[in-house]
Amino acid sequence: MPKKIAVYPGSFDPLTNGHVDLIDRVSALSVFDELTVLIGINPTKNTRFTLEERIEMLESVIQPYPGVTIDQYSGLTAQYAQERGASAIVRGLRAFSDFENEFQMSLMNRQIAPQVDTLFMMANTKYAHLSSTLVMQVAQMGGLQMNNKKLLEMVPSVVAEMLVKTYGSPRDELNK
Ligand code: ADP
Repeated sequence: MPKKIAVYPGSFDPLTNGHVDLIDRVSALSVFDELTVLIGINPTKNTRFTLEERIEMLESVIQPYPGVTIDQYSGLTAQYAQERGASAIVRGLRAFSDFENEFQMSLMNRQIAPQVDTLFMMANTKYAHLSSTLVMQVAQMGGLQMNNKKLLEMVPSVVAEMLVKTYGSPRDELNK
């Protein structure tokens, strides 16, 4: 039997607990032998974190999941998925506003790679409001002065450390 592969594409700029929750829940389903978290590289898009930093974030959270791997790609996700022989692309849905884009994108992906389906996971209510953009807005507006517990409700500790280092209070705050 060929390996069943799913691809979870995104910018992960930065990685949030919402992303990690999706990785956790897809892994728990045991539908796929391998789940590849695919960091999309768009040379025309400025990212807040470098590719290396985003890889570091992901590496630190996927350790408990033996079936999860990380890769990067600068082309179309559907093409990558097809080349890898993946059976599905995994996406998360947070709000109605995600739906329209995601619906359109899944139809386009199906047209490009007819053998690859899209699997949508509803966001966990705990994280449904979380986006990388919102986390960055909080960070850039000095929100990291808040206590560490709140920050760790939004992002994994490796990301919290990077955010605090760049935008917030001293690293020591993380140990309180
Ligand atoms: P992209 O730029 O491709 O949307 P993101 O890193 O923002 O990249 O998101 C990657 C995927 O993770 C998307 O399918 C998005 O809907 C999903 N996602 C992001 N945040 C959450 C969250 N809090 N809960 C569930 N899914 C999420």
